[in-house]
Amino acid sequence: MNFILPGMTILRSLDPEPIWKYFEEICTIPRLSKNEGKIRNYLTKFAKKNRLEFKEDKVGNILIIKPAFPGMENRKTVVLQSHLDMVGEKNADYPHNWSKDPIIPVINDRWVNAKGTTLGADDGIGIAAQMAILTDKNLKAGKIECLFTVDEETGMTGAINLRSDFFTGKTLLNLDSEDEGILFIGCAGGMDTVGTMHYKAVPVKNESCAFEISVTGLHGGHSGDEIHRGYGNSVKIMTRILQNISRHTEIAIAGFDGGNLRNGIPREAFSTIVFDQSSSQLVTELIEEFCSVLSDEFGDLEKEMKITFNKVNLPLIVMDKANQLKFLNALTCCPHGVMAWSKEMDNLVETSINLASAKFSENNTIRIITTQRSSVESSKYDACAMVESCLKLAGADVVHSDGYPGWKPNIKSEILKITRNSYLKLFDKEPMVRAIHAGLECGLIYEKFKGIDMISFGPTIRGAHTPEEMIEIRTVQMFWDLLTDVIRNIPLK
Ligand SMILES: [Zn+2]
Repeated sequence: MNFILPGMTILRSLDPEPIWKYFEEICTIPRLSKNEGKIRNYLTKFAKKNRLEFKEDKVGNILIIKPAFPGMENRKTVVLQSHLDMVGEKNADYPHNWSKDPIIPVINDRWVNAKGTTLGADDGIGIAAQMAILTDKNLKAGKIECLFTVDEETGMTGAINLRSDFFTGKTLLNLDSEDEGILFIGCAGGMDTVGTMHYKAVPVKNESCAFEISVTGLHGGHSGDEIHRGYGNSVKIMTRILQNISRHTEIAIAGFDGGNLRNGIPREAFSTIVFDQSSSQLVTELIEEFCSVLSDEFGDLEKEMKITFNKVNLPLIVMDKANQLKFLNALTCCPHGVMAWSKEMDNLVETSINLASAKFSENNTIRIITTQRSSVESSKYDACAMVESCLKLAGADVVHSDGYPGWKPNIKSEILKITRNSYLKLFDKEPMVRAIHAGLECGLIYEKFKGIDMISFGPTIRGAHTPEEMIEIRTVQMFWDLLTDVIRNIPLK
């Protein structure tokens, strides 16, 4: 029998002991996003106990400073960064009070997971590694600044409000990655562009008939990580179905509802159309024909795609013809998918657009929501302008969200070279070097601390943000070996 009780120490038997010891302590401290008070107290107490200089800023970010090892004062300062908060998800039948209960880590063969909840290795393992570095008396290294940010998971408000004088180092190791063997050197910035169209409501003619068409079963996926896969966009597909019918017979749109999340590729769309009774057979044939065109086009990529239609009660009103034309043209013309691939790195999407949703809303309005991403700031703004122009041509009012900046990969980076050399020396193989097409705190730091040289790596974590979250034990040792070796090899000022 394998009894695990609160407070029972099981992790500190693992190697490397300093990381696991601190990680186990961190597991006992509640720290959901925007509720980091307890973990902040724990860290400031830790700093005082170890006689380490520290400071806090207005939003709750913490910096703990370890002076250089005697004789190493001439080395560049290195910044280590993690985030203090975690995502709290639990199994429905597991009792857990996020404001006071400890997370119970469990060793499962090669992995550590938590009983019934997220483990918080994202990014508790980063915090633990920093604490282990801060208390390592034998580490021959220059000055180290450990930065702990708040609220990464629900808005990155810690990184957003970071002041550009909060730390001094010009080299930063971000400890919030989840794939051992991969060094991350870039991320995308993002921005939303939202269009609002107004239409006139027109009464429906008597001899009409109405169909509701639905497009469902698409793959969808994350609009950053999966935009390059070419999955179907339900809003685009519905638009094509309606455009195709309109080319042959007159239709009026009574409703349109496609997509949901701004950062998800739309998976479903529904539309109600009205047409003359005499066209009923033609409309049926047009939809059926077009279904087979689409299933040929997407083939195995969208095997579960389902396009159905059925006769429904006649609605009272439809949108006016002129605006309907503009609406369909706007959706047809609005770009979706990969706009550009990186010129420096293979297989990295540099710029993309997600046409996320289009919906009828109150007071005869339609809202069209889109997201633009790019690791190059100027390209992000260009993608926004593209969508804005297209929506404005259709007469829509357009607004952009504030957005967040990207981190442009630099394959000639000094810290990349150092980390790659350390990895090769320690594990006798080349690490993969990648950038991701989604947002990281690094983008915000990169924008604020001009000229900073950054890299991100970590042990292997699977199922982050779910109760299945787990961390691979052997990769924590590899992470520690790499981290300490890189720190020892930070060059002279
Ligand atoms: Zn994280």
